[in-house]
Amino acid sequence: MIRTRFAPSPTGPLHVGGARTALFNFLFARRYNGKFFLRIEDTDQERSDPRFQEDILNGLTWLGLNWDGQHLQQSLQTHRHRTALERLLAEGKAFWCAHSREELAVEREAQTTRHEPPRHICNFRDGAADSAPGEGIIRFRNDATGLITFADLIRGEVSFQAELLGDFSVAKRLDAPLYNLAVVVDDAELGVSHVIRGEDHISNTPKQLLLMDALGIARPQYAHLPLILGNDRSKLSKRHGAVSVNEYRQQGYLPEALVNFMALLGWHGEGDRECYTKEELIEHFDIADVQKSGAVFDTTKLDWMNREYLKAMPEDDFTKAVIPYMKSEWQKHVQKNPSFWSAVRALILPRMSVLGEIAESANFFFEEPYYAEELLLWKEEQTPENARGHLKALQELLETQPPDKFFAEDLRARIMPYAEQQEGGRGTVLWPFRVALTGKRASPDPFDIAAVLGRTEVIARINKAISVL
Ligand code: GLU
Repeated sequence: MIRTRFAPSPTGPLHVGGARTALFNFLFARRYNGKFFLRIEDTDQERSDPRFQEDILNGLTWLGLNWDGQHLQQSLQTHRHRTALERLLAEGKAFWCAHSREELAVEREAQTTRHEPPRHICNFRDGAADSAPGEGIIRFRNDATGLITFADLIRGEVSFQAELLGDFSVAKRLDAPLYNLAVVVDDAELGVSHVIRGEDHISNTPKQLLLMDALGIARPQYAHLPLILGNDRSKLSKRHGAVSVNEYRQQGYLPEALVNFMALLGWHGEGDRECYTKEELIEHFDIADVQKSGAVFDTTKLDWMNREYLKAMPEDDFTKAVIPYMKSEWQKHVQKNPSFWSAVRALILPRMSVLGEIAESANFFFEEPYYAEELLLWKEEQTPENARGHLKALQELLETQPPDKFFAEDLRARIMPYAEQQEGGRGTVLWPFRVALTGKRASPDPFDIAAVLGRTEVIARINKAISVL
């Protein structure tokens, strides 16, 4: 049976990189009716924080990447880690190393000057120097020579030179295991069949293989996922605007869109197809189709994808999703005036990438806009007198427009002939009109907006604009 796991350390919030790893583990397990486990690797007491753990659990739940059973807390497994350590020590496969930090630093520096990879070959390994049990840290006695090779499902055969690993550390104390030891013991305990994780862990794999061999644990299969890169092809970081999953949530990205987008970070299905529901991803995803080379995180594409999901949402679902991003007065207005809201929604939706944009893209439907005089003027050329004259003309045209003929087409038919006649072009009329209604440089079509606002409100706003000029 396929058994995968996501094993985050709670030393920071859930980021896209981690979420993508979780997603690939999830999809692979679900595709083959296997199990997907979550293990919180919190043995580093100093760097782990329960708040980050909560952020990780919430983020995965929000994305719908549900794991099987209860999540595992690595710090509660130390009895098992201890048993493994005791066994390695008893069999002479591990030893206590009492070298100080300073001594190790000197050794490392000497190796670097000789252009050798830094590693520690310990003279405590054979009991050559005195090292009382319990003193220093525990190291694996690495007697391996030649190549350590494993088959990576994404990269093919990967090899490391065994001697270059040195006698690597496995625990600070019997009850304080380090990552490589804990991960090997816990993966075996869960019966993990496929270790799917970030490429940054590839150099840990040979150490883990040596530990497995020493403990008589069968090797799982490996798949190391490509790095996620920013637009400039350097490793994705905050600098690229990369944010935590929770921040994407707060900005108003939909979990379905983020899942779809993350699936394409290193994987693609047949042809040019980009849009997949979670169920479709489960059906199509295969680890063998994941690419080796870095996957570029393209925010423009994420925004496009989110727009596609927003547009495809049933109206009620969209309303439910967007309401939390509105001020309470707006919320009340929406609840009281469903037909008004439905018209507003139709106008703003095609222009929205994320739900959080509602505050900016719809404020003028709910509140009278504020603007400076300059904004009312079409380019540099238009004088306040000229703009005022056009607004007065609009006011007269609209006052004689029957209130029951206040649809966008009626207004366009009424106003466009006047606008087209103007010397400076129609912009001299339509620009001040748009700003009077919205207070913005860019908005949906002013005739559409006017129809939603209604005659009284439109005339009031034009009057206010005239008074500003
Ligand atoms: N705790 C490790 C991390 O967060 C897990 C690595 C692994 O999947 O083995 O990077």
